[in-house]
Amino acid sequence: MIFYNVLTVFGSVALDTTRTPFQTKERILGGAATYASLSGSFFVPVSLIGIVGYDFPQNYQILLENKMDTKGLVKHGMKKTFFYDSSFDYDLSHRVTNKTELNVIENYEPSVPSEYVNSKFVYLANNDPDQNIKIIKNFNRPDLVVCDTIEYWIREKKNSVISMMEKTTGVIINDQEARLLCNLSNLIKCGRQILSWGPRFVIIKKGEHGVLLFYNDDVIPIPGFPIEDVVDPTGAGDSFAGGFIGYLISKHQKNFFDNIDLVKESIMFGSIMGTFAIEDFGINKLVNIDIKDIMYRYNKYRNLLSLG
Ligand code: AMP
Repeated sequence: MIFYNVLTVFGSVALDTTRTPFQTKERILGGAATYASLSGSFFVPVSLIGIVGYDFPQNYQILLENKMDTKGLVKHGMKKTFFYDSSFDYDLSHRVTNKTELNVIENYEPSVPSEYVNSKFVYLANNDPDQNIKIIKNFNRPDLVVCDTIEYWIREKKNSVISMMEKTTGVIINDQEARLLCNLSNLIKCGRQILSWGPRFVIIKKGEHGVLLFYNDDVIPIPGFPIEDVVDPTGAGDSFAGGFIGYLISKHQKNFFDNIDLVKESIMFGSIMGTFAIEDFGINKLVNIDIKDIMYRYNKYRNLLSLG
């Protein structure tokens, strides 16, 4: 069976403790793959591959099962779920990692359920880059492989991160991580350097300031949608990625990267999904919106940018 419009997401499914100057939430459902798959599931069916531990709450498991295909989500009986503890500054944009406990992710040998090997669209959310490289080989020539990464992996396994990016169609990364990875201060230089490793496009996320899209020789800026009530920025980037890829592939266009207008439109949908993610803690907002909310905000965004 060929999955033409199914998005397969591989990456962390986590328990997060998130501290802002205003509130702290402990051990709530998080993880890069969680955000990306929930966000993508508004546009296309999603199948999730990942691992959780014995402490992963049943209600989180059920929540995921109701939104996507979780055949690829393995539960480890002896180890704990990946855990991430972070704090945000007063501006709710600068994040400091307090603790990363790999737990089940350490030494995990991911495998792709046979039902998914023909998936055409794969998103490698934040995860061990060596595991990402291994899992790419399990798919039967996908059309699109997009990856992200995070500070932890750039510091721990920089060469593997680069080698993973060489094997992808697209890279989505935030500004701080791009600078750290490339050891360059200018984001245009960072984007061009990542592009030179092989992907067809690079998207550098700049939080509330939108994104830069690197495609061929072009550097295309796309502003962000302004949000007044930011609560928890965790997962904005992953929700961006899920929305971007989900919308892009929902259009069933064979050579979608030749259609730059579709790519820009998909970026706008990605940005909108990021704005929903940050309006509440964890995934709370993402599970309380519907496609009408998304379209309402998207149309407002187009009007703000005079796109009609
Ligand atoms: P984002 O805010 O989009 O950059 O991603 C935040 C999510 O990434 C959180 O929900 C974390 O659980 C997850 N995360 C943080 N560090 C890592 C890591 N080293 N590997 C995999 N996932 C991570």
